[in-house]
Amino acid sequence: MELLPLPTSIRLEPHPIARDQTVAACHISSGSIVISLPPLTTVLLPSEKGCRCDYCFRRDSPDVHLRRCTGCASYWYCGAQCQDMHWAVHKNLCKAFNRYCASPDFVKLAEHEKLDALLLTHLAAQITSNSSPRSTPASSLSTFLNLRPGPFSKGSRPVVCSMTVKRSGLSSDELEAVYSRFGNNNFAIHSHLTTYAHGVFPLASRLFNHSCLPNAAAKFVLSPSEPIHMEIVAIRDISPGEEICITYLDPALLQSRQQIFELTYGFTCLCPSCALLNRIGLIPPLPESDSELASLERALRTFVFPFHESGVSDLRLPTGLLQNIPSELFPALCESYLTRLSEAFSKASHDGPFDIALDVGLTLLALYCLIYPPNYPQIGTHLLEMAKTAWNAIILADDDQRKAAVTENDLSEQVRTYLRLSRDVLDIFGQEGDPGGPLEEIRVLYSLLDGM
Ligand SMILES: [Zn+2]
Ligand SMILES: [Zn+2]
Ligand SMILES: [Zn+2]
Repeated sequence: MELLPLPTSIRLEPHPIARDQTVAACHISSGSIVISLPPLTTVLLPSEKGCRCDYCFRRDSPDVHLRRCTGCASYWYCGAQCQDMHWAVHKNLCKAFNRYCASPDFVKLAEHEKLDALLLTHLAAQITSNSSPRSTPASSLSTFLNLRPGPFSKGSRPVVCSMTVKRSGLSSDELEAVYSRFGNNNFAIHSHLTTYAHGVFPLASRLFNHSCLPNAAAKFVLSPSEPIHMEIVAIRDISPGEEICITYLDPALLQSRQQIFELTYGFTCLCPSCALLNRIGLIPPLPESDSELASLERALRTFVFPFHESGVSDLRLPTGLLQNIPSELFPALCESYLTRLSEAFSKASHDGPFDIALDVGLTLLALYCLIYPPNYPQIGTHLLEMAKTAWNAIILADDDQRKAAVTENDLSEQVRTYLRLSRDVLDIFGQEGDPGGPLEEIRVLYSLLDGM
């Protein structure tokens, strides 16, 4: 089928197992945008309704004032332009929307089912208005229907707004065909890595297979008076002929991800990380005693940061260590270990003690470097949290403590190191979503440091 025009830097090739694969047609440098894609349809999470414009998804702020649609009082717009642009679609839903959402069939749906039902209703409204500027080949319904349905699609009739669907002319078979592709093809739309909407991006689903060690990542770009766009960013240099992959779910789900792939997506991941987990087989449980946990922590840090002794100024982020993980570190691959470290870091980095936070945070960083691919955005945001924690340790300590800490542990050196590493990683992913965010925080923290 015709997917063109694709950018000249990529091409579609047959894949031994998946339907096909997208490979680099030339060298693609880290930080490059591989492709920019419009959505077929989107829906805001219920918690974001009224906080973001229903057309451009920009957030209510001193510069962005939202006003309700006077027809339904359930859709919000940042201005007349967004409302006008959306009206061709929204008019097919406006009158019926509140009755639909109050209907017993809709009310009894689970939250995620409501979201899918709304997404499908939005799609129907959009099909009715074939004047929608979004209907390009990249975002077309036929591209979407050409994708594979989920392995265990429910087969039940989705609860859609009947008036909107009637106008669209979609048959119940077509509705079910679309619905059965939601589970394994929908994307979580995020700003600074926090999800605020779901969306269907047919060409992204068609082009990019999953890997737990991906060389690319999806981010979502907001612009005034335009629907959101997905950008696929190369997070490391990609050689000609190399497949370009993204993650469909958090690679840190080391123990549960294979089952999720099978149940939700209908494939078995064969990436190098999954191949290694297969060789390991059953991951040994975490040790229970504090002393054994402490020695696991030490061993993990020594393995990942072998040259790092006392200060952090020589800290480097290693890559590709997972394949050589020694068996004594296998328990560190338990999902509960990551949860435990994240919770301990999050608590201590907010409430102190900050030395404990920096210590746990370094172990968590070692684990991230082990299980995530190089330049994965989560590594960058964690590094920023480490920098902020070291900064708080400086400014929240009393004078005597501060003097001792700054001279003895050289906390400001820690802030600089973590900031530099964080910027190196996050500059590659680039600005995403709402104004502000990690890159802005890095700039602010640098200026505070310089003013010290
Ligand atoms: Zn808007
Ligand atoms: Zn309305
Ligand atoms: Zn995998």
